[in-house]
Amino acid sequence: MHNYKDNFPIFNRIIHEKPIIFLDSAASAQKPQSVIDSMVDVMTNHYANINRGVYTLSEEATERVESARIKVAQFIGAYNHEIIFTRNATESINLVAYSWARHNLKRGDVVVISEMEHHANIVPWQILRDEIGILIEWIPVDENGNLAWLSIRESLKNEPVKLVSVTHVSNVLGTINPIKDIVSWAHSIGAKVLIDGSQAVTNVSVDVNESDCDWYVFSGHKLYGPTGVGVLYGKKDLLNSMPPFTAGGDMILEVTKERSIFKEAPWKFEAGTPAIVEIIGLGAAIDFITEIGMDTVREHALDLLQYAYPKLLELNQLCVYGPSKMQDKTGVLAFTMEGIHPHDIASVLDEEGIAIRSGHHCAQPLCDRYGQSAMARASFGVYNSKEDIDALVSGLQKVRSIFK
Ligand code: PMP
Repeated sequence: MHNYKDNFPIFNRIIHEKPIIFLDSAASAQKPQSVIDSMVDVMTNHYANINRGVYTLSEEATERVESARIKVAQFIGAYNHEIIFTRNATESINLVAYSWARHNLKRGDVVVISEMEHHANIVPWQILRDEIGILIEWIPVDENGNLAWLSIRESLKNEPVKLVSVTHVSNVLGTINPIKDIVSWAHSIGAKVLIDGSQAVTNVSVDVNESDCDWYVFSGHKLYGPTGVGVLYGKKDLLNSMPPFTAGGDMILEVTKERSIFKEAPWKFEAGTPAIVEIIGLGAAIDFITEIGMDTVREHALDLLQYAYPKLLELNQLCVYGPSKMQDKTGVLAFTMEGIHPHDIASVLDEEGIAIRSGHHCAQPLCDRYGQSAMARASFGVYNSKEDIDALVSGLQKVRSIFK
């Protein structure tokens, strides 16, 4: 089993006198040397503000940003003019909530989300509910950690459902949702669909055209790219029908004292100087992951899951949440150990050089669903190996021996 640790300089670091075992990629992934190099290169050799200058440096930087847009588009099966650069997935969802939803939804309209959403796909809709009186309906999560969306279809049949906004992959359970079927149902009742792809783009191949969703969002930093850059995909006509989210320089064709004429999408939604260096870094991250190939990325995660899952289940009083068939999920294992707080688990593991996540994972309704205030979560990236899993398992044995 190949792992790509050598591509990631962070693994030269020693913490608590041990090499790092990083099992928190679902929160944010480490950065390959090629991404770091691409960002250093643009700042060293090609940096200037984009879209404005007619001089060489500005043209070089602009060309690199637009080439990153093409890479993102190809990566998810979109056209490049359907790709908007934002700060992160959270901002992408807020863009849809502020621009599309505020202008198209009215009191009594229904937005469907699910119990497994990240707060980024809950809070904007709650704010909209409080402001204009939309209703939020929740798709429950069943015993196996799957969306029970078939059961809610009947009860929503005669409701004015205008938007279904769900995650492609749960950041806690790893559940891969059947977005194509969900989109087709939502469209059949006249609703638009936003898919939160934050955890999906790093794990499975994504084709927005095939799924036919209306918007698709993700962040660069989970995809081995830098922080500060996110993506909003939207169907071209839909984007052009939406008003700007933020306004100012760069998003206009002309401004007079009386009025402003906006550019077309995607630039209409990219007011101000964008994250030039980070966008270029995201392009390099997509090159990195494309070179490995999403099929290989998926196989790697499945190998790790199939190795780790039975080993975790063998541990005393440990409960793993989410689908029990590894094919149905991505490389993330959320668990609790009876009588031990997840923060204690994570602290003991840290002393062993192992980084895992603990807490509510910005998915409090999901934790509530399982009657937990917090969970521990180990998540895998392309740099993880079976040795990392062995270290996790012996670390957890140590946790149990300390908190007997
Ligand atoms: N949605 C999901 C499913 C996530 O896992 C995350 C990040 N944990 C987000 C949205 C938000 O991403 P960001 O903080 O980069 O905006």
